[in-house]
Amino acid sequence: MARRAADTRTPDRLFDDQQTPYTRFARVVLERGIDQPDGLTYAVPDHLPVAPGDRVEAPLGRGDRPARGIVVEITEASDLDPARIKPLLALRGPRLPATLIDLARWMSAYYCCPLGMVLATMIPAAVKRQVGRVRKTMLTPTGAEPAQQLPPQTRKAWEALRALDADAFPGEARALATRLGLPSVGPLNRLLKLGLLREVTVTTVRAPWQEYAQEPDRGLELVPAQRRAVEAVVGALGTPSPFLLYGVTGSGKTEVYLRIIDAVLARGSSAIVLVPEISLTPQAAGRFIGRFGPEMVAVLHSGLTASQRHQQWARVAAGEARLVIGARSAVFAPFPPRSDAGGPEGREGVGVIVVDEEHDGSYKQDQLPRYHARNVALKRGQLEGCPVVLGSATPSLESWRNATGAGPGAANGAGGGGGGAVGGAGGGARFALLELPERVGGGALPRVEIVDMVEERRERSEDAGRIHSLGPRLERALGETLASGGQAILMLNRRGYASYIHCPGCGWVMQCDHCDVTMVFHRRIESRLTGGGYVRCHHCLAEQKLPEACPVSGGRLSLFGAGTQRLEEELERKYPSLVMGDTMLRLDSDTMNHARDYFDALERFGRGDARVLLGTQMIAKGLDYPNVQLIGVVNGDTAINLPDFRASERTFQLIAQVAGRAGRSAESARARVIVQTLNPTDPAIVAASRHDYRGFAAQELEMRALAGLPPIGRMVRIVFRDRDFDRADAAAREVFRAAQSLGVRHVRVRPPAACAISRIGDYHRVALDLLSDTPGPLQSVLTRLRNIGLVKSDARTAVDVDPVALL
Ligand code: ADP
Ligand code: ZN
Repeated sequence: MARRAADTRTPDRLFDDQQTPYTRFARVVLERGIDQPDGLTYAVPDHLPVAPGDRVEAPLGRGDRPARGIVVEITEASDLDPARIKPLLALRGPRLPATLIDLARWMSAYYCCPLGMVLATMIPAAVKRQVGRVRKTMLTPTGAEPAQQLPPQTRKAWEALRALDADAFPGEARALATRLGLPSVGPLNRLLKLGLLREVTVTTVRAPWQEYAQEPDRGLELVPAQRRAVEAVVGALGTPSPFLLYGVTGSGKTEVYLRIIDAVLARGSSAIVLVPEISLTPQAAGRFIGRFGPEMVAVLHSGLTASQRHQQWARVAAGEARLVIGARSAVFAPFPPRSDAGGPEGREGVGVIVVDEEHDGSYKQDQLPRYHARNVALKRGQLEGCPVVLGSATPSLESWRNATGAGPGAANGAGGGGGGAVGGAGGGARFALLELPERVGGGALPRVEIVDMVEERRERSEDAGRIHSLGPRLERALGETLASGGQAILMLNRRGYASYIHCPGCGWVMQCDHCDVTMVFHRRIESRLTGGGYVRCHHCLAEQKLPEACPVSGGRLSLFGAGTQRLEEELERKYPSLVMGDTMLRLDSDTMNHARDYFDALERFGRGDARVLLGTQMIAKGLDYPNVQLIGVVNGDTAINLPDFRASERTFQLIAQVAGRAGRSAESARARVIVQTLNPTDPAIVAASRHDYRGFAAQELEMRALAGLPPIGRMVRIVFRDRDFDRADAAAREVFRAAQSLGVRHVRVRPPAACAISRIGDYHRVALDLLSDTPGPLQSVLTRLRNIGLVKSDARTAVDVDPVALL
């Protein structure tokens, strides 16, 4: 299928007369890692229709090497010496709408990242490279009338042509000839010569299309809580207003989004729905496509080919698709401007932005620019003047506090203020809270059984030496489930076979040579029978062979810390009916190379072909299978001991989310959820087993307040990296002293300390944390450090504003 793209301009023509006085000048921000918010000035040659937002090629340096950049401003005059201003070389690709440039400026300031890099991030690589673009010469009437008598054949062609509908143009000569019943394109060429037709270049993007299972509108009647939520958001359309939609799993949040979007599209506005990458399954996309039609919807996810991605983006930029569903970067959907700002006819701006599963960690980008898509969505909503709906069954504590004002110290916050921060903590409730407290159809949340693994291990004492990931209780439950024809989901949030390679004799543990982490043993798929395998570092991906014996004492090594591969082996041993790849599927990033593998596996499980689905947290999301009778969390503790202040919050989310997969329908109402743990009294685990989000949030916010940690305050972490520890440490200390000497009130600067993972890929890592109750003072410190050149985001220094992962 071919589609028309926005870009029908012709670049590539070099400006030929350097002496001509220019009348227009462009400020261009180059796509480089240099802090240059105002950009460089270039002259605009007359033949280039350059406007703000255009991606251009500009000469740089002595050799005038072409460099890519984005035009951020056009002016009629420049104070620079005209002889020294170089002209732009060419247009290169799409035009970004003005709001995205404003958004980029905010991101550049807030996330401490050069503007050119932010702008470059907003355009997908496939669009920059114009993958799949096809240029065609087509014909269209000029509007002129024949000045003379036409020869008979030509006249016949002309009359037939005029009888065609306007949407037949521009058309390819050959296709037009066929349509008009002409024996050749000859008559069309004559019309072209006579000036009755003209040639236009049309750019299209070709991409083989992807199929989605479209779910039709079942005309559901909303339950009262859903109706209230829809009414609140629809009533706020046209105003910048954030909402938190807190609804337990299966409470009908998606249906609420669909109704709001329906109202938005009916007004001629556009909508964005962000979802975590992994939950954007074809079924999820199919719900939106089924409701609004394939023409209206563009889907952006990692399962697309480069040309599909380009095509989807181009459909949005051309104003064809008004609903964008995608992962993190879809927050930069390039809708054309509204009609009153030069956009297509009948077009309004962005009407709503939805962030589904807003607590999900994948919304944070871990490389430059280190933005959080939830926060960027809130800022975009402010700039576009539209509601932003954050939805979750386990909201991030940041959003919860914003919506409820809960937590100590909430009353004295000053709000975002001059720093331009959004979605910040402090200052009472800033989001409207919408609640869906019950599952639609009355399905109950499943009962969760906590199993104390210390106890269970005692039961197994006669079988010492053998590793059992499943305790007796989970083992029995799985046996019963299989016997009765049910399906089971088992989550173990650890890849590989064993996460510790250890010598029981002398205590040696195998570490990566390049990182401060233990090596993980992986079994080779093709050598399952021989037990062969390799040892890999999950951080730098270095691999080695498994040593035959302990290099220190020569003792026999043992493998500890079971991962998904070992669980798979144990299941095959214990249940003869389970065969890997057939009646059992494993989902983790080792088995899933492409999004398509993942979708296929989920579909096979959904069809009932496989009885057991085991995997990492990948399986905790977006699944809804009526025949699931058992959900087992094999190790509820994987996140609990991480040296990260969000460890409890992650543990809660993980268990509550996976538990929410059960009991969605009458069939699965009696499904059991079993959580195995070594910490059966841990508050996060206990609260998750009771589905008690409010209780957990209240308790955790209190702890954060005592420690002065987000979301009660704000945090910036700067990580200094160097092959030499002392140099990393010295750089951190210099910034520490500078930050202290600025003496900005209300900012706490913690002395530098080695990161929890103190070395990755031979680089030592030292972190400096800045904390404050409100974002304003933090931004002020950052800006001043940036202005004196002490802090910049580059290969050695990572500035992370509102960090999510602290390892
Ligand atoms: P969530 O997004 O909160 O997990 P969904 O929107 O996916 O919940 O809804 C769960 C299920 O309930 C879906 O199958 C959906 O079609 C159905 N559903 C949603 N709203 C209603 C309603 N008002 N009446 C009947 N069924 C509904
Ligand atoms: Zn390593």
